Amino acid sequence: MTAPFPIPSGRLEERFEEKSPLYQEAEAVAEANRCLYCVDAPCVKACPTSIDIPGFIRKIGTGNVRGSARTILTANLLGQSCGQVCPVEVLCAGSCVYTTWGREPIRIGKLQRYAVEAALAKDGPPLLPRKPPTGRRVACVGAGPASLAVAGYLALEGHRVEIFDRKPLPGGLNTLGVAPYKMKADQSLHEIQWILSLGDVALRAGVAVVTEPKGEGEIAARALLAEYDAVFLGLGLGDDSRLGIPGEQGAGVAGAVDFIERLKVEPGLALSGVQRAAVIGGGNTALDVAHELALLGVDVALVYRRSRAEMAGYAHELEGARVDGAHLVENRIPLEILREGGRVTGLKVARAEGGKALPHLEARAEEILPVDLVVVAIGQSRATQVALAFDGVALDAKGRVVIDPATGRTGHSKVWSGGDCVNGGDLVVTAVADGKRAARSIHAAIHATPERPAERQAEG
Ligand SMILES: Cc1cc2nc3c(=O)[nH]c(=O)nc-3n(C[C@H](O)[C@H](O)[C@H](O)COP(=O)(O)OP(=O)(O)OC[C@H]3O[C@@H](n4cnc5c(N)ncnc54)[C@H](O)[C@@H]3O)c2cc1C
Ligand code: SF4
Repeated sequence: MTAPFPIPSGRLEERFEEKSPLYQEAEAVAEANRCLYCVDAPCVKACPTSIDIPGFIRKIGTGNVRGSARTILTANLLGQSCGQVCPVEVLCAGSCVYTTWGREPIRIGKLQRYAVEAALAKDGPPLLPRKPPTGRRVACVGAGPASLAVAGYLALEGHRVEIFDRKPLPGGLNTLGVAPYKMKADQSLHEIQWILSLGDVALRAGVAVVTEPKGEGEIAARALLAEYDAVFLGLGLGDDSRLGIPGEQGAGVAGAVDFIERLKVEPGLALSGVQRAAVIGGGNTALDVAHELALLGVDVALVYRRSRAEMAGYAHELEGARVDGAHLVENRIPLEILREGGRVTGLKVARAEGGKALPHLEARAEEILPVDLVVVAIGQSRATQVALAFDGVALDAKGRVVIDPATGRTGHSKVWSGGDCVNGGDLVVTAVADGKRAARSIHAAIHATPERPAERQAEG
């Protein structure tokens, strides 16, 4: 299958090898046969999309990959990418009975990816049944995992879905943020092509939904209410947060999410002249970007204001970054980015305790890390203001969209939401689970509402 979206070659991400390559059939069957097919399986309880894990693994063992993929995709339409990007160590595999016995858990993520890729590569009738067209229309704002799950499930119910994304490439952070040694942008785009093929789904890439449109490429949020039976807000998060320290403006300093996006999809991006980098932060994004830079041959210091034990990032990701060459500089607070002739030459840091700088008077309290690049990974802002264009939709004190947790519905009866813009930033699989929940609720709600004949006739 060729990539459906324009993605040029010559991207830095192409230089990364997969850390967990696709299984061959014999390997998959051997691994599947290790599964104990537990009753009341703990791995299923740990999966946010409740995939029947022993069920799909058993089908791999008996050579029924189509059946296996169907089991996975019924529960999680992004089963292929979740097989690659899910932190299984803290989800399904972390709960596998083998783990509790101190033994190697079943490689659930690898088996999942194998089953879906093998099934989709084979010709045959559609894997998932699609109902006849209903004439109902739903708009999804954002083309990240949350919206893609909504779109796919509603398309299977026969509804027409239009997805708007302000970026030229769909997939949100699954395409533009996930570490390339887990999954590359074109792999995410192939999966999206399959989701779009599930039914009547249209992607309007490069169109931002805004409160007050000012020109081409923008559409008014409130206009969606008139045109569609329901609206789903899968807005994700906003721009990288900044440190607010001297020297931060200018070349040689980048926000982590912005930097990773360029590394993944910008052709010809070169890191020439970058030998040493400081990555500031202690979450998974900081660990990812540190790991990626280390794999590109850069000497990386991961600068965190607290101790290793207090890092929000996963221990296994820190270990992975460390093994590939990144080193942790804990208990340091960035004070200033030093420049010579505009070029970054160093990062001045203060020693810290409990996240706070030690008193300046201590001679040893400050030091300079010589670096050519500083990547700031201290979080992302919110992109949820547009949600307020819908009467009744509320944001909480942290700027997250407020929903009914049972349905994903907001305070507006025609508007649902889910994913990072609701949870403040989590995982692909939780965004998919949110999308699935919202799709169920939207389907029930629009079925309960009579169709508006005049508008349907106008559509032809
Ligand atoms: C660097 C990084 C690495 C990650 N790695 C992993 C990983 O390995 N495994 C994992 O499970 N999770 C990972 N995550 C988290 C995961 O990617 C997110 O939780 C997930 O993508 C959230 O999905 P979403 O649909 O809510 O939002 P997003 O993926 O952010 O998608 C939101 C989309 O909405 C669009 N949008 C926003 N506002 C508008 C608007 N007004 N109009 C039109 N379009 C709009 C955006 O352009 C974007 O495409 C990572 C996150 C980051 C930052
Ligand atoms: S807990 Fe482990 S062994 Fe049991 S069903 Fe799940 S994957 Fe198989």
